[in-house]
Amino acid sequence: QSAPILVTGGAGYIGSHTVRLLAGQGRKIVVLDNLVFGHDQAIIDESVELVVGEVGDQALVRSLFEKHQFGAVIHFAAYAYVGESVTNPLKYYQNNTAEPIKLLQVMQEFGCEVFVFSSTCATYGVPDKLPITETNQQNPINPYGMSKLMVERILADCDTAWGLRSACLRYFNASGCSPDGLIGEDHNPETHLIPRVMMAVTGEIEHVEVFGTDYDTPDGTCIRDYIHVDDLADAHARALDHLAAGGPSVRCNLGTGVGVSVKEIITAVEAVSGKTVPVKYGPRREGDPPSLVADPTLAKELLGWVATRRDIRDMVGPAWLWATGPHQGRYPENKNKA
Ligand code: UDP
Repeated sequence: QSAPILVTGGAGYIGSHTVRLLAGQGRKIVVLDNLVFGHDQAIIDESVELVVGEVGDQALVRSLFEKHQFGAVIHFAAYAYVGESVTNPLKYYQNNTAEPIKLLQVMQEFGCEVFVFSSTCATYGVPDKLPITETNQQNPINPYGMSKLMVERILADCDTAWGLRSACLRYFNASGCSPDGLIGEDHNPETHLIPRVMMAVTGEIEHVEVFGTDYDTPDGTCIRDYIHVDDLADAHARALDHLAAGGPSVRCNLGTGVGVSVKEIITAVEAVSGKTVPVKYGPRREGDPPSLVADPTLAKELLGWVATRRDIRDMVGPAWLWATGPHQGRYPENKNKA
């Protein structure tokens, strides 16, 4: 268990919060990130080594395995723009599916048999029932979701073939930031609802557009399950411990079980900021299911994990802190970028 852990994409949003938690627990972490979307300033623990490079660079990954003898890999590195995955599917299948295969090949060579994988509720597509349990059908409606589902299948096959034990963690909507506001969510371009609402409040954009008001939901806007990024991080630590202790492969939802509408997010931001959010009501965004809410029971049973923050103010409050705190919602330019 004390063997070092390789974390790909550890300079990204969910990755950096997980790295900070694991490093704080005294684990030795090496981050591999190409810094295309990651930020070197998101890695603040001195003990963490950042290697700038590609997950699919087998010579590089081999050299890291030789040096560190990793006991486990946590694989965050991926592209995550659903719309772009529709217009440029090969980019997603290359980066999100083909690259991890190369990583897994090196793991097999070195006999590393523990893998924690960032999966997504997008693997379910439009759910056949709510709340979503792991027995819901997985029918992704975009290449992003399919690129992740394919890796889930590959991991199951590797388990059968060579004993790779994996945790496929199906995230719902990651949100919030660390309580001190030092690390947080900085995507470029930013498409996610909560940061877009923050940008509208701080004047970075003129208004936030609400995508659709005619859904079959109580207030007509889409419902999502917003989960605090530090609760997601905690699930990774637990998944690692479960697998390191010899536990079998798991696949489970990570959500709060609480559904929140777009309008409710806007109201919560107005409450925390004391300001009015400039809003424009627009048409539906293609590919948005009306409602995505997790049943998180299985993660509790398998990993002893529950989301400790369940009130939407617990996500929106930190997001406001991040937007107005030391970095004003944006990291400075990467210093280590090649
Ligand atoms: N949304 C919106 N305006 C925006 C961004 C998002 O109305 O500028 C809505 C979107 O249609 C969805 C919800 O907010 O119903 C959450 O979207 P987000 O992109 O944050 O996450 P997703 O659920 O798509 O992964």
